[in-house]
Amino acid sequence: MKKVYLDNNATTALAPEVLEAMLPFYREEFGNPSSIHAFGRGVRVAIDEAREEVAKLLGAEPGEVIFTSGGTEADNFAIKGVAYACQEYGRHIITSTIEHPAVLNSCQYLEERGFRVTYLPVNGQGLVDPEDVGKAIDRGTILITIMHANNETGSLQPIREIGKIAQERGICFHTDAVQSMGKVPFQVKELGANLLSLSAHKIHGPKGVGALYLKKGTKLHPLLHGGHHERGWRAGTENAAGIAGLGRACGLAAQGLPEEVQRLAALRDRLEQGIQEKIRQVKLNGHPTKRLPNTLNCSFWAIEGESLMINLDLEGIAVSTGSACASGSINPSHVLLAMGIPEEICRSSLRFSLGRFNTVEEIDYTLEVLPRIVDRLRKMSPLWKG
Ligand SMILES: *Cc1c(COP(=O)(O)O)cnc(C)c1O
Repeated sequence: MKKVYLDNNATTALAPEVLEAMLPFYREEFGNPSSIHAFGRGVRVAIDEAREEVAKLLGAEPGEVIFTSGGTEADNFAIKGVAYACQEYGRHIITSTIEHPAVLNSCQYLEERGFRVTYLPVNGQGLVDPEDVGKAIDRGTILITIMHANNETGSLQPIREIGKIAQERGICFHTDAVQSMGKVPFQVKELGANLLSLSAHKIHGPKGVGALYLKKGTKLHPLLHGGHHERGWRAGTENAAGIAGLGRACGLAAQGLPEEVQRLAALRDRLEQGIQEKIRQVKLNGHPTKRLPNTLNCSFWAIEGESLMINLDLEGIAVSTGSACASGSINPSHVLLAMGIPEEICRSSLRFSLGRFNTVEEIDYTLEVLPRIVDRLRKMSPLWKG
């Protein structure tokens, strides 16, 4: 059976070059990077090289990159770290309703500990209005955290405008760029962010490693205490193999990024247009253009996204519903609900997310299989009137 992986916003396949970059640190280069001897020094050099690769892709200084265990830790670190460092100045945080759980649950944790959090709404296409950000700022605001690209719809937020407002008002600004870094070109300085989260496994790197960009001079409190690793920002012996993998993944992503954006957008548009031509009553979720080039989220009227996903899986095609399962019951996506999409339509949504290794043949295979499944499921649906 053909196997087609269209769930690249969940995770991506490790690039062969990344694996090659990692292997030495599981073999002969096992030294502790904090050791002074040759075994340690070699690993230290590799970590510093990886730091430069990450910084280069971001347009940052290597000294502004802190390695973490992934996007979740980077988000927790940024939000709790700023909250703890700035609580004497104020206890108000501004975020949005469509953030990743790593951001939403960090904010909720702080809310339970005396911080105030404003959750900004989004419009029907999943975008935050920068004007709402300005209006939400009060005397106690210490942090604005708004994601760059949404993982479910791919919608790209007006980050530059929000960053400008934050800068003008002198408020610390964090953005979760886990889905955008290495997928769309940007320079962190243009975004106006003090802090930015990224993760390796969303860009063909390994799982369990990421980084937090920390602009020089930003106040932050460490979360992990121990040795003097990462210049005292994050204790713990470095994940040398993972860090080398992240560095290589960033280097690969930087190579020909504008061309890869074009290629992915063309593949995604082929899928989107094919679906619109072959299947009736399909609705796009998210912004048609202000969107990651690899993401397509749409609702198929009268069928459950979950059934569609399982039936596609039986044909070797991996997609996602973008909704989280809570204790056996399927909750509709908080992102789509926040966009004002009715619950039934949320439940009928499916996310296709493409990556470096997808081909035209795979898209065409999907376009062959999908209409058949939709037809079959609709015939069984009480909602479908034909
Ligand atoms: C995947 C993801 C995360 C979490 O990153 P991990 O490295 O898996 O912890 C955070 N934010 C967004 C937007 C993501 O897509």
